[in-house]
Parts: sequence; structure tokens; C-alpha cells
Amino acid sequence: MEAKQLDAYKKNNALLCQFIVRLSSFYEGFSGAIDSELKTLRSHLSGTPNFSLAAVSIEKLNKSLQSQEITLRKYSIDTVSSIEEATKQLQKIVFEDTELKALTTQQLIKLNQPIDDIFSIYKLYAKAIALYRIALNKQIVGLETSTSDTQTVDTSAPKAQEENPHYRSIMIELNQLIASYAQKKPDDRQLRDIKQRLEDGMNEDQLLKSCVVILRMIVQDAMSEASLTGKVIQGLHRSLGEIGSSVSATIEGSTTQFEQRQAGNEVLKQHLDSFEEVVSESHSLEALKAQTQDKVNTLLSTLQKQQVDDQQGQEDLIALLTSMQDRIETLQNQTSVYKKKLAEQAAQSRTDPLTRLPNRQAYNEKLDIAYAQFKQNNMPLTVAVVDIDHFKSINDRFGHAAGDKTLQVVSKYLKQQIGDNEFIARWGGEEFVMLLPNTPMKHIEAKLNEIRTALSQMPFKFKQQKVQITASFGATSFRKNEDKEAVFERADEYLYKAKRNGRNLVITDISEQ
Ligand code: GH3
Ligand code: MG
Ligand code: MG
Repeated sequence: MEAKQLDAYKKNNALLCQFIVRLSSFYEGFSGAIDSELKTLRSHLSGTPNFSLAAVSIEKLNKSLQSQEITLRKYSIDTVSSIEEATKQLQKIVFEDTELKALTTQQLIKLNQPIDDIFSIYKLYAKAIALYRIALNKQIVGLETSTSDTQTVDTSAPKAQEENPHYRSIMIELNQLIASYAQKKPDDRQLRDIKQRLEDGMNEDQLLKSCVVILRMIVQDAMSEASLTGKVIQGLHRSLGEIGSSVSATIEGSTTQFEQRQAGNEVLKQHLDSFEEVVSESHSLEALKAQTQDKVNTLLSTLQKQQVDDQQGQEDLIALLTSMQDRIETLQNQTSVYKKKLAEQAAQSRTDPLTRLPNRQAYNEKLDIAYAQFKQNNMPLTVAVVDIDHFKSINDRFGHAAGDKTLQVVSKYLKQQIGDNEFIARWGGEEFVMLLPNTPMKHIEAKLNEIRTALSQMPFKFKQQKVQITASFGATSFRKNEDKEAVFERADEYLYKAKRNGRNLVITDISEQ
């Protein structure tokens, strides 16, 4: 054999040994018997390999592994069917609780899907425990808390918490609240701390404490808003008070003027009366002339005085009216600033801070209006739910910030695709909900498919890596006399079906017929 060839064999041998050593370490923990044999094999292959001893070890391992494979498979099947049995039992007990009914149905669907690897069985296990925990917390009749049950559930285990849908939804809500407060208070250290800890993962105690901190901020904010409202109302009172006193001053002024004028008229009348007397009592033309002149002068000066008083009164009145006008204008300005601020606040409370889309509250309000119209005119009304596929993996692979950015881009894109009479909101997490009125399902299905295809072709790139983002859709129209919740649930069922059928799919009433 040539030296070159020998060298190549040696290299390949070393590589193979190294690989076997690594692979055997990976399988450590599956079974005690195999573990010790694997250890022996590793010792034969490390350093200068002893192939004849290794061959004995491999022979033994082959046999154990063969029987182990059967046991592992059987164990997996047995475990899944026992989880399924337990979930079915739970479903029977919780059938009156809509949330648990839906959750157990979802779990049963998952249990019927092929198992990819042994770790997914652990997830199914954890989920089943979480479901039992929710049922226990809700104190559903038929489920009794026993000490042994409580012991098997480790409340501090982060896995179990992640599987608990309440815990997850509180985490998401808290995340959104923090995002909205972070805009108001970008330098707040406490907020930054909580945001960081949310990203790192929290146990229930920490989550509760963080909720209290955020609640305190909300209350403080509400108090300062209340004091703002108080200030504006005080201002309004002051201005109204000023206008009130101006009006009474004007009325008083007019009354005084009226009295003055009456008094002036009285003086004139007296002058005229005495004038008549003068005429009847005069002896000579000369005396009459002089007395008449005197009386005319008095009358003239009385009239002049009255004219001056009148003018003064009018000027006072104009001044008062002008100042009243000014005050009313100020008041109007103050009120419109306040109204604008209130409108801004109202809009903010209906907007999701991350995506700038309307939030769930806005959706519920919009749905009430659309539903009333639907009942009145019987035109079609469709609810469509959208959920980004495998979104968690974006967070896991590229970080939470990349996840946030994706949500923003997808939201913007979806918003652009929505018509003037249509509506889209962020339902929560990576889920969106649309209201599509007056359009036949045939057109909606085509439109959603266009949106779906275009989204799947959008060029996302994270860390120099091209990433395809897809979403699944469920859309259904209101049926006669159907309530709002039933329609949403059906849309959600379709969405779930789209997920089960491989994702990146649109399922509607038409495809379900
Ligand atoms: P599926 O295709 O079945 O929908 O899988 P998925 O991973 O999209 O769904 P899953 O419900 O398992 O995970 C959704 C993830 O979305 C989990 C949560 O951490 C993440 N998420 C929810 N809200 C936000 C957010 O505001 N920002 C970021 N970055 N992630 C979020
Ligand atoms: Mg998703
Ligand atoms: Mg989701």
C-alpha cells in the first residue's frame, strides 16, 4: 500500500472514531445499560483506538439498541395515548367552559399529528399538565385537588408557565403595555428593566410584581390626566364667572342709565312745566323774553347732559361687549385644545403602539357598528383572521427586535391591502383580524390568496439571511341570527385548519363547503 493511501485511511479512521465518540455522547441518558456500554466503546476509540475491543463493544450495543428502539417507539406511542386519554377525560369534565373546551380540542388535534421527535412528547405532556392546572384553578366541578397532584405540578418551572395560555397572554399584554409606556417615558429605568426581564423570561412572582409596577404607572398617569382635566374645568369656571360678572355689570349699567334717563326726563318735564308757568305769569314782553331765554338755556344744558350720559353709556356698553367677546374667544380656544387632546388620547387608547394598527378594543367597537348594520341591511359581513406562520422561530433565530420589525412590516403591508370600507386590527401577538363588509366570499377568498402569495414573496432578510415569511388565513361570513362570538370562533377554526394543513393557506366558507 502506498504511503499516501495509508495516510488517507488513517485520517478517515480518526474522523470516524471521533464521530462515533460524539454520537455516543449525544445518546447518553437514554438507558443505563446502553450508557455504560457506550462509555466502554468511547474508551476503546479514544487516544490510540483498539478496534478489536471496540468491535466487541459494538456487537453488544447493536443488540441492546435493536431492542431499545422497539421500547422507545412503544413508549412514545403509549405516552401519547395516555396523554390523549387524560385530555379526553378532562374535556368531558370541562365541556361547559368554552376556553378549556377549545384548548382541549386543540390539544387532541396536536396529539393526533405525527410525532417528530421525543422532545415533542415532553411538550404535549407539559401542555396536558397546564390544561389540568387551568381547570384546577377554575375549580371546575369533577376535578379535585389532591396533594399528590399539586406536587407533580412544579409552578416555578418555566416550561409549564410558557405552556399556560394565561401566562402567555399576560406576558403579551404586559409587553404591549410596556411598549406604549416606553414611548411616553423612553428614559424610565424601571420600564427598561421589566422589558429586559420579559425578554429573558420571568416566573409568576416576577410577572405579578411587574404587573403591579405597570399598574402603578397607569394609575399615576390617570391621576395626572385627571388633574389636567381639573385644571381645564377650573379655567372654564373662571372664564364663565368673568363673563357672568361682565353681563351683570352691563345689566346694572343699563339699569343705572335707565334710572338716570328717567331722572333726566323728570327734570326736563319740570323745566317744561315751569316754562308754562312763566308764560302764563309774565307781565311784559321783555320779561317774558328774558325768562324764556333762561328756561331755554336750562333745557338745552339738561338735554346736552343727557346726550353726554347716553354716549358714555353706549361707549361703556361697547367696551363691555368687546371684552366679553375676547373672553369667549379665549374660552373657545382653550376648549378646542382640550378637545383635541382628549381625541388624541382616545385614538391612542385604540391604537397598538408597536404596529400603529387599531387594537382589539378598536376592533370590538368597529364590530359592534358593522354587526348592527349587518342586522339592518343583511348585506354580507366577513371576519378574517390572519396568523403569521412559525413566528416564534423568527424571535428564536434572530431576536425579539427582528420579530418586532417583522410585525411592523407585515402590519403596514396588510393595512395597505385593506380598502376604505374595510378594517384591520392587531388581535394580539402575531395575529390580525379583518372586517370585510358587503363583499361576496368568492372575491374575499381571491383577495386573501393574493395577499398571502405576495407576503410569501416579500424579501425579508435578517443577519444576511433571506427569510420567507408566510401567514395562514381563516375567513367566514355572518350567518342569519348568528352572534359575534360564533363567527369569530369559526374563523379561528378555519385558521387552525390552515395551520394543520401545512400553513401558508387560506381557508374560507367556500373551501369548507
Ligand atoms: P404557528 O405557525 O403555529 O402560528 O406558530 P407560531 O410560532 O407563529 O405561533 P406561537 O403561538 O407558538 O408563537 C407566537 C410567538 O409570537 C410567541 C411570542 O413570543 C411571539 N410574539 C407575540 N407578540 C410579540 C411581539 O409583540 N413581538 C415579538 N417579537 N414577538 C411576539
Ligand atoms: Mg403564528
Ligand atoms: Mg398565534
